[in-house]
Amino acid sequence: MLLSLTLGFIAAIADIVGGLVLVRRNWEKRYLRYFVALGAGFMLAVAFLEMIPESLHYSPRLSPVLVLAGYCAIHLLEHTITPHFHFGEETHHDEFISSRTGYSVLVGLAVHALFDGVAIGSGFALSTWLGCLIFFAIFLHKVPEGFTVASVMLASGQSRRAALVSATVLAGATVLGVLVINLLPHWVQVGLPLSAGVAIYVAATDLVPEVNREPGIRMALVFFAGVLMFLLLRLLAPAV
Ligand SMILES: [Zn+2]
Ligand SMILES: [Zn+2]
Repeated sequence: MLLSLTLGFIAAIADIVGGLVLVRRNWEKRYLRYFVALGAGFMLAVAFLEMIPESLHYSPRLSPVLVLAGYCAIHLLEHTITPHFHFGEETHHDEFISSRTGYSVLVGLAVHALFDGVAIGSGFALSTWLGCLIFFAIFLHKVPEGFTVASVMLASGQSRRAALVSATVLAGATVLGVLVINLLPHWVQVGLPLSAGVAIYVAATDLVPEVNREPGIRMALVFFAGVLMFLLLRLLAPAV
């Protein structure tokens, strides 16, 4: 429990670091894209090869429904209720005026961050190894995530302080997600497949489009490096 909470905190701090990277103009933002690409590949591999198969052990009939439900829930919160959202820096100021839009993005991302925490907690409920894999998958997109929410808040006319607070809200939601599974371990049966659906959404629908916007194949190759990194770690895995 201690390890899962500690790693949950580290992931949460990465959200805040992302917010700081945005607010501090002089910090280098270019490298965030590599985290996005690497994180997308690694997270997709973890979701398909670990989270879904483990969920199927609980219920082969209900789990796939929950995976789909997790996917749909994030689509609803991030892209349906919210008229304009994408990962990365918000640069479309003409499309982005109302502070309501900013808050709806914050709510959507907070629910997503809650499931980031649920995923980490669920992984540790099964094994330390799986917990560490899921933590790493989540961690890679956490800095870009905090960066994104801070950028959206600034673009919707909020102060830098509000931008940092919003990154901190995501951090809090992440820790809360880990706590929920730690306190109610039997919820892992629902939490794992739901958070697998969320992870697939975040990787394939939020992060991959950002990877694809980069010209050239370099970023695309980093995505495959993420998948490959997971496979290598899996080879090293203790037999679980
Ligand atoms: Zn935009
Ligand atoms: Zn996230």
